[in-house]
Amino acid sequence: MSDASVLTAADLGAANRSRLIRILHRDGPQSRAQLAAALGVSRATVTTIVQPLFDAGLLVEQEPADRASRRGGGRAGKPARPLWFSDAVLLGGAYISGDGVHCAVLRMDGEVVRETRAPLEREDVVDGVLAACGDFFAGTGLMGIGVAAAGMVDTEAGVILEIYRAPGFTGAQIGPRLGEMLGVPVVVDHHPRVQAIGDLWFGEGRELASFVSLHTGEVLGVGMVHHGRVLRGDRGAGGEVGHMVVDADGERCVCGRIGCWETVATLPWLRREAERAGLDDAWEMTCAALVARAETVPAAERLLRRYLRNIAQGIADLEQLLGLQRYLVHGDVGLGGRRAEQILAEELDGMLNRRRTLPLVTAVADDDRSTLLGAAGLLLSAAFSLDVDR
Ligand SMILES: [Zn+2]
Repeated sequence: MSDASVLTAADLGAANRSRLIRILHRDGPQSRAQLAAALGVSRATVTTIVQPLFDAGLLVEQEPADRASRRGGGRAGKPARPLWFSDAVLLGGAYISGDGVHCAVLRMDGEVVRETRAPLEREDVVDGVLAACGDFFAGTGLMGIGVAAAGMVDTEAGVILEIYRAPGFTGAQIGPRLGEMLGVPVVVDHHPRVQAIGDLWFGEGRELASFVSLHTGEVLGVGMVHHGRVLRGDRGAGGEVGHMVVDADGERCVCGRIGCWETVATLPWLRREAERAGLDDAWEMTCAALVARAETVPAAERLLRRYLRNIAQGIADLEQLLGLQRYLVHGDVGLGGRRAEQILAEELDGMLNRRRTLPLVTAVADDDRSTLLGAAGLLLSAAFSLDVDR
């Protein structure tokens, strides 16, 4: 990580460029004057900040705003030409997990142009994923590809160190091999961190200075954003909160430790407990399915509450460690919607009620969208040094 106390002019340009992209996604097309006001810099500085983005064809000047908005501007003279993302630049995003690979071609305005999912079918999972990506992306004219991997990643080498649920990925040179195959830059990072970039630029995190983006489901992980920067340990370490120990006398985890958060707050736990409670379709159980049944089936209500209490346990630990206050919960619990939010809030209240402000949890139902958009953001962060913690 770079030392924030010795920010250079280039770092400041990069930080402002990242803020500028967030402002455009939050507020829509903006004139240079509007951007200067929002960033608290001069118009000349805005010109310097945007120049590399123009050079790369990422930003374009739109036609002057229509008469109605010009009247609002109240000034005669040259009408302002708002800046917006070019729809000519295409970005690749891929999310590799124990279930398979989800690929998308995206535009900088956040639109998904097309997407596909491929399960892990071949015995050699790495070859299978590379072939699926190759088939999908070939001939698209991409600026590059951002890859989110649901496991430990060496971000500098572009290597997946390990995905516990899919051991075939251990040591996979995904970045270099995909780059060589398609002839474009490829950047690889830890899945929940990529999801956090998606939230930060395109989603619920656009308005927030600091937040935690939590993924729940078969596994658990977080991406953390502090004052607009995505936190990243050396060579991409960190964020493996599924393996924080929450029960020293608990069950053994796939990672070898005892009582990891993941052993009590993921779908495998939920489904085992649903079976034990005698619930129908236990092995298909999800948070949303429990919410739907909870009003009429007391055992479903009890299990829903235990599941979310276990999720809240880790959120409370994270809050005590980081105090970031806002939690965007994706994946299985995100699909639990408003009811899941309510129960999490009640459980957190019980755990943290001596604090002045309780953390606020938002359930995000997005079907990997934040991750795929975040993958595009990851690529741009690398290409334009937008994320100074990289
Ligand atoms: Zn573990």
